[in-house]
Amino acid sequence: MKIHNFNAGPSILPREAIENAAKAILNLEGTGGLSLLEISHRTKDYEAINDEANALMRELLGVPDNYKIIFVGGGASTQFFHIPYNLLEKKAGYVNTGVWAKKAIKDAKLFGNVEVVASSEDKNFSYIPKGFNIPTDLDYLHITTNNTIYGTEYHADIDSPVNLVADMSSDILSRPMDVSKYALIYGGAQKNMGPAGVTFVIVREDILGKVSRPLPAMVDYRNAIECDSMYNTPPVFAVFVVRETLRWLKSIGGLQEMYRRNKEKAGILYDEIDRNKLFVGPAVKEDRSLMNICFVMAPGYENLSDEFLAFAKSRGMIGLKGHRLVGGFRASTYNALPKESVEYLVACMQEFEKMHVK
Ligand code: PLP
Repeated sequence: MKIHNFNAGPSILPREAIENAAKAILNLEGTGGLSLLEISHRTKDYEAINDEANALMRELLGVPDNYKIIFVGGGASTQFFHIPYNLLEKKAGYVNTGVWAKKAIKDAKLFGNVEVVASSEDKNFSYIPKGFNIPTDLDYLHITTNNTIYGTEYHADIDSPVNLVADMSSDILSRPMDVSKYALIYGGAQKNMGPAGVTFVIVREDILGKVSRPLPAMVDYRNAIECDSMYNTPPVFAVFVVRETLRWLKSIGGLQEMYRRNKEKAGILYDEIDRNKLFVGPAVKEDRSLMNICFVMAPGYENLSDEFLAFAKSRGMIGLKGHRLVGGFRASTYNALPKESVEYLVACMQEFEKMHVK
């Protein structure tokens, strides 16, 4: 039976990236038989992998020259404190759109004054706050562009009068974007970009070195930049798979084509959620995520939740259980998920409706 992988992260990756990684684990091309897992990062072999991953990221996203891209460890959660450590002198603003934003806020508070300038907590994070005032005395404003757990997403790069910092863990590389609207973008790679173990940071260099506190070497972005992401031992394997994933993304036509496919996939599934009598989507329509599609049983059918999950599982669909804070289901439709998997899920929802709605 074919497996359809709707996991929220780590999640589905392009098959060819995985196959190339498997080959490189056995024999990294050009090394005469060494495994990717046993090469030194201080070699031409790794340098080439790191440089290409970096260059592809710059090319695909259109990253301007005054920004640097680094690959580091620690996950996006480590950036929750690295960002205020490097940037927060007096006051930072945060938009609270869910669990990950809250964690970022909690860590930032250790470093200075934090103002939550907008929040969607009043409606269980089912929307993206808009039209709020951004104070001009902030060191930076932090947003989470895609809320993996609640299934909401900013669909445009917002204008900010202060340095804009964005957690793009779950929507990076899903659409073309204007990097120049941000001062810093970061995220864990383990959704659209590669496997767990590597974190990307894209930073406009002029914002660094402005805080008065001393910075530990591993925290100071300038060290990672100066050493081409090799201040300490980098996650060699993960960066290799990032490179393969970015090669795939380029080969299919880059972010324009990726965006077209992602909109198409999400459209198919949201149409079914809106049509099917058994399901409803909690997120407001205009803020619905293209990456994490959340839905729950419609009123009156709540008791069918476990049965639907079991039914979908019996058809090869995995990772559909919603986060416990939202309940119901979450279909993560990241870049590498084929349209066929979404169509398969829709067919399954239709069959389930026939079984239960007379
Ligand atoms: N931010 C967002 C939007 C996420 O979805 C996640 C994980 O799913 C994180 C941050 C945390 O990432 P990590 O596990 O890499 O620390």
